[in-house]
Amino acid sequence: MAIRKIVLDPDPVLRKQAREVTDFGPRTQTLIDDLIDTLHHSGNGIGLASPQVGVLRRIFVIDMQDEAGVRVFVNPRIISRKGQQSSTEGCLSIPGYWGEVERPATVKVQAQDRQGHPFELEAEELLAVCICHENDHLDGVLFTDKVIGELVKA
Ligand SMILES: [Zn+2]
Repeated sequence: MAIRKIVLDPDPVLRKQAREVTDFGPRTQTLIDDLIDTLHHSGNGIGLASPQVGVLRRIFVIDMQDEAGVRVFVNPRIISRKGQQSSTEGCLSIPGYWGEVERPATVKVQAQDRQGHPFELEAEELLAVCICHENDHLDGVLFTDKVIGELVKA
């Protein structure tokens, strides 16, 4: 387990397409542990995607600090989106900036857990926002691409 360096915008790795995970062996397990450690070390983040530590794999972790604990998503696919909500987002790769982004009110996501077992999850409110935000990272998309109005500097 280790804390990795978070890549900051405008590093080009944040704009690349991450690759599907096919191997759930030790390297992937270490990467997932490191993502969790790095997220917790950040202090104020609730999600971290693998490209944000410079590794182009389709993995992100979310910790809403609720009873669910850390959620790990490998090879996620958002299979349905319903409704609309807007909220203020920030990103560990774009420290100090905030902006209003419109996202679906609910999403259904299919993914694999860290052992490779498939699962499906329906999410709403902040968890839905976070899943969309992190999933965008896997496709090289940043929240700043979607901000409505001004990007605000904290
Ligand atoms: Zn982000």
